[in-house]
Amino acid sequence: MRQENHVIVVGGGAAGLAAAAAVEQAGLSCQLLEAQACLGGRIRTVPLRSGGVFDEGAQMVNGDMHAVLDLAARAGLHLSPVPRAGIGLCLAQGSTRRFEDLISVGELHELLEEQVLRWDSPGEALRALRLKLAWWNTPWESLGEAGRGLRLLVAKRTAPKESLAEALRGLLLEAEEHAMAYSHFSEVLGAAPEDIHAQAVRDIFARYASERDDLEFQIAGGMIGIVDQLALELRHRPRLSTPVERIRATGDRVEVVAAAETWTADHVIVAVPPPAARRITFEVDSGDELAALLASFTAGAMIKTVLVFDRAFWRLKGLSGAALFADTPGLAVVDGSGDGPFPSRLTAFLGGPLARQWAALSQEARQDLLLGRLSHAFGEGVRAPLETAEAVWIDHPWSGGGYNATVRVGGNPDAVARLAAWGGRVRFAGAEVDDRFWGYVEGAIHSGRSVAAQITGNAAGDVICETAEPQGAFGGSRPKAERGVVSER
Ligand SMILES: Cc1cc2nc3c(=O)[nH]c(=O)nc-3n(C[C@H](O)[C@H](O)[C@H](O)COP(=O)(O)OP(=O)(O)OC[C@H]3O[C@@H](n4cnc5c(N)ncnc54)[C@H](O)[C@@H]3O)c2cc1C
Repeated sequence: MRQENHVIVVGGGAAGLAAAAAVEQAGLSCQLLEAQACLGGRIRTVPLRSGGVFDEGAQMVNGDMHAVLDLAARAGLHLSPVPRAGIGLCLAQGSTRRFEDLISVGELHELLEEQVLRWDSPGEALRALRLKLAWWNTPWESLGEAGRGLRLLVAKRTAPKESLAEALRGLLLEAEEHAMAYSHFSEVLGAAPEDIHAQAVRDIFARYASERDDLEFQIAGGMIGIVDQLALELRHRPRLSTPVERIRATGDRVEVVAAAETWTADHVIVAVPPPAARRITFEVDSGDELAALLASFTAGAMIKTVLVFDRAFWRLKGLSGAALFADTPGLAVVDGSGDGPFPSRLTAFLGGPLARQWAALSQEARQDLLLGRLSHAFGEGVRAPLETAEAVWIDHPWSGGGYNATVRVGGNPDAVARLAAWGGRVRFAGAEVDDRFWGYVEGAIHSGRSVAAQITGNAAGDVICETAEPQGAFGGSRPKAERGVVSER
């Protein structure tokens, strides 16, 4: 059997599917290789007994995430607004505060940006110094004074902080706000702030291309509808259960070894998260640099739980269902009820070291702990859900974990941009390397399409697959993309 294509895409998550479709739309042939028995990666949707579905991975979008919204519109999927009315809570040791009485997440991110600011030129530093001195009401008289002030400024106020935890301490927040900030970042990054590179995080936030809340809508029927639509747009069926083990650039070709078969192509798009990419052997130019970039990332740890109730009792108390637990680092809850006929829900996210600790317990013990914490925010009513379901994203073999992988302390702070710009015949795509919506499905799609566009400008030649018979879960000559089929597990 001999198949001819131009490009191989490794990974059938949102990034890989978007990349493969874009390559094909440009008139080139493309073979997608996926390690697991289904497409979607960190998008997984399962049915609930009580009705409706549970998005085990990605669930929410906002109005600026146009690629996802466009796919949803093409698939005829309904967007259900995430309920937000009511009071949001922050639980601290021995007290419960309203979100509105504390520093906002937006302000926190701004302060953090300033804290880890890196001066690119002396002129820039002096201009900043002049502003700071004006602010401190210090006389600006001589160069000597400026030099002294600059040393002070760099040493004490704005020297880059290596770890996010150091940067957070430098913000000099009041104790409760610090605990809230620490918990927020543990959840969002799925890791302890001590382990995360402050500069890299600051760069991610600085590039984020939206001013809107990221939890505006969820897709009725689940995020898998987006995967189904992406798969529907592929001309050539993806190969499932085909983990790529080795990628070797040889002159003007690239060899890809997967499941005891060898493929060759002009270009390979590696659309797998960095922790999973580390399991692939790369024989490419500057291989050591590539290994160091991939090693710069640490995988997130995340447990996502849905709790289903016959009614949204928290709303009767004026609560929105949103809560951040400063006393339980990494724990946050939102109201995940849709606007359909299904029962009401709270969705809990536990990220970071505590997620790792809880993952070592039985599911029953985890649930007891979670309900105990939630009862402090929502009352005893929370202890009697109709149904619960959870997804543990920790040390996952094909994604690393959740939500995403972030640059660790000791890693290259520019690893995201360097991987995105990696040129030649082997290129990288995925939510972790996107420059607009880092860490989101939107970013994965944008990154996949961007890399495909770079390649389709200069692709030439064919890919040859030395294999006996084609295989995979798709029976026909093109993917079956009826809703739910691609996500069956
Ligand atoms: C619990 C959770 C909640 C989230 N919530 C949201 C949300 O509400 N909104 C949002 O926008 N985002 C959310 N995210 C993040 C979002 O899911 C991811 O950023 C995005 O789906 C990543 O897409 P990707 O294609 O880059 O990577 P992935 O989805 O990880 O896809 C990579 C694919 O590559 C495959 N693969 C790995 N190694 C190999 C190999 N060697 N050979 C072949 N294939 C391989 C994997 O099996 C996988 O299918 C969430 C994530 C999690 C875990």
